[in-house]
Parts: sequence; C-alpha cells; structure tokens
Amino acid sequence: MRLSFLGATGEVTGSCTLVETGNTRFLVDCGMFQGGPEARSKNLRALDFGFNAREIDFVLLTHAHIDHSGLLPRLAVLGFRGPVYATPATIALLEVLLPDSAHIQEKESEWQLRNRHRRGKGERGVAPPLYTVAQALAALKLLRPVAYRETISPADAVKVRFHDAGHILGSSWLEMTVNDDGRTRKLVFSGDLGMPGRAVLHDPEKVVPEADLLLIESTYGDRLHRSLTETEDEIVAAFERTLAAHGNLIIPAFAVGRTQEIIYMLADLARRKRIAPIKVYVDSPMANAATQITLAHPELLDPETRELIAWQQKHPEKMKLESVADVERSKALNDIRSGAVIISASGMCEAGRIKYHLRENLPRSECSILIVGFQAAGTLGRRLVDGARLVRIFGETVPVRARIYTVGGLSAHADQAALLDWLRGFHKAPGHTFVVHGEAGASANFAQAIQERLGWPEVRLPQQGEQFTL
Ligand SMILES: [Zn+2]
Repeated sequence: MRLSFLGATGEVTGSCTLVETGNTRFLVDCGMFQGGPEARSKNLRALDFGFNAREIDFVLLTHAHIDHSGLLPRLAVLGFRGPVYATPATIALLEVLLPDSAHIQEKESEWQLRNRHRRGKGERGVAPPLYTVAQALAALKLLRPVAYRETISPADAVKVRFHDAGHILGSSWLEMTVNDDGRTRKLVFSGDLGMPGRAVLHDPEKVVPEADLLLIESTYGDRLHRSLTETEDEIVAAFERTLAAHGNLIIPAFAVGRTQEIIYMLADLARRKRIAPIKVYVDSPMANAATQITLAHPELLDPETRELIAWQQKHPEKMKLESVADVERSKALNDIRSGAVIISASGMCEAGRIKYHLRENLPRSECSILIVGFQAAGTLGRRLVDGARLVRIFGETVPVRARIYTVGGLSAHADQAALLDWLRGFHKAPGHTFVVHGEAGASANFAQAIQERLGWPEVRLPQQGEQFTL
C-alpha cells in the first residue's frame, strides 16, 4: 500500500492524500491551496502532475471547507468520473461552496482580462479559472451521501466509516480498513477536528482504540486556545469600546461554521445581558445559505444551541438579525456610520463583500475589526493581525486606524491539549503517525508533543509530494 502526500504538508491548505493498494486508487480530500502568491501554481501542479485523474476510483471527503474540497471540480475536469463520498450536510454545503469558488475564480479572471493593459500584462498574463461554475455544478453530481457510523465499501478491498469530527457541520474523521494483499490495515484520517466543549456542534467522536496508520491535523498543534470566558470578555470589551466611540464593528468570518458560531455567541451574550440589544447584519449570501443549512440539521447541533435558537426566535428584539441578500443593500451598509455589527466573508479578507466593509471602516479610528478565525500567511487578514498600518484593497492604499481585536478562543480546530486528548483514545501508538495540516512550526511542535507526552516512538512530518510505502 502506498500513500502520497499531495497537500497540507507544512501548511494548512490543499489537503489531499492519495492511497493506492492493489488495483484500487483513491483520494482522501481534494482541497485547494489558498493564500499567498504560489497558491495558484500549486493548485495547477497538484492534480496535473500527481497522478492521472481518470485512474482514481473514488474520493472520500472529510468536510466541505474549500481547502479540503475545492479541487474536486478540477479533478472532474481532468477526467475523474468516480463517486465522491461525504455526509449529507457536507453535500448540502458543497452545493453552495463549490459554485461560489468557481464564481470567485471566474470574476478574478474577468478582472485580470479587463485590467491587463493597466497591469502591463498581455492576454498571457490572464489566469483562467481552475474550473467554471458549470464545471462545479457537474462535479456536484458525483457526490454520494454517507451517514455517520454507516459502513460503506467503495471498493472490494476498502471499508470506510465516517465519524463526527465536530469541526463544521457534517465534518468527519475517517476510519477505514484496507485489504492489502491479504493483510488488513486499519487507517485513521483525522480530517479537521473541532474543539470540545464549544458552541453549536457536538464534540468530536472518540477515536478507535488502534490503527496501523494515522494522519492527524495540527493547525493549532503548538498552542492552547484562550478559555471561552476570556474570549467572551474580549468580545464584550470590543463591543463596549466601539459603541462608545460611535463606530461599527466589522467581523470577517468564514461563511460556514464561524459565522453561525458568532451569531450564537452574540445571541448568548445578549440573552445574558452582557451586551446591549444589537443589530447584526450578516452580509454574505453564502453565510446565510450555510445558516439555513445549519438550521435544517438540528440533529447535528448541541442541545444548548437548539435551546438558544428557540430563545432568539422568541426574542428577536434582543438581537436584530438581518441577512443581507442583494448587492444594493450590501452597499447601503457603507452609509451606516455607527452601531452596526457586520459579519461578512471571506474569513481571511481575501475576497467577497468583507473587502468593501474593510475599505470603508479601516480608516476610521472609532471602528473595530474583530478577527475571530485563523489567518493564513500571505492574506490580508494576516497583515491586519500583524499590525500593518497600510494595506492594499482593490488596488487602493487604505490606512489602518480602526482597532484590530484578535479573539483567540473561537477556533473551529482543537488546540494542542484537545488534540492530545483525542489521541489518548488510542490504546497504543498507531504503527505509523503522520502530522499534517499545520504550518511547519506548529506541526513540528505537535509531533514533539506527541512523542514526549504520549510516549509514541515514531511521529513523522511528511513533505509535499512525499510517498510512503506501508
Ligand atoms: Zn476545515
């Protein structure tokens, strides 16, 4: 059996692992590289050089985030026709996320084409989209739903179970057995694991007692999240300061997961009277679609969240929530000078309507930006976190005078302690452990923590493109 690490090594995007055994070839995740100038070339290389897409039998998707799913339409463009297995909620989210990813790419190409003279580049300087909206819609037809804990056999030699990973709606970690030349191997892919005890979703399901091979994520493998109480105090402080200064509070948030978590937290703070009644605008069609999908899956929500949703529906005046749909209304938000809470995407400030809200509010010292999610190296969000005084938005230089609050405790990812706790579910060390999905320092630090704290003898840090024979 052979494993090829095609992404998410030394970084947090581009998750994709190729597993080959006997006559069977499949991928676990098919994610897009995001952030930084090399992302595009990595996306082109990932599938064109790694393997022949026609020879892939099936794909298993741990969850809907684009860095785990975003190259699926590209795989289909290159000739892949096999089924793609994912949970029903993941499929519902992908129906929104993949066409949106295509749309953003089409828009970017059109923009480059229109501005090619000003940018001093000819036709050849225009990057075509990795896939179009039509191609994304075609790829959605390959998806096949799998329930949590149902055992499927996508090939004779392979059995797979999806377990709740508590990271975003429908997210999974995978347990599989692969029959390799008469020997049965047990594989565990963590996908992205959620932080236990946090709002909205269930905690990650406990891992199986043993495995021959484990891939574990390490996004926050080198640190501990601040406690929920501290996080709430920070949010309340940002609210009080901004409202007193007569500014707006802008919250860049991932449309899927983080936006719903923020809405829940604000409603909870309003219910406990820690913040005054507020007006919240969710200015992201995708976030609003994701909220609808979340509400359509109450069985995936924790009991506290179901109770809070009921409270909020009974007391809409405590937190007025407006889902902004059309562009005109979105533009009109720019005229609001104070008292507005605007949640918008994308979460790392790289695309979407958030850029307009930042352009409008960053130069105003009375406003605040609440950073509530991971900001990858090379993104606008990261530059704000790092204290940039000037940033470029839509080709304009924008001064940063607004207060930037970085709220650390809201991650959708387990921190080091929670990751180690999850690994303690193994009764003995897996035969082989690979630490993936983390920036190089975080992964290395986590690998060391596993060895020192759990006493596991062998923990590896795979490199991009590295192959491993088991
Ligand atoms: Zn994720």
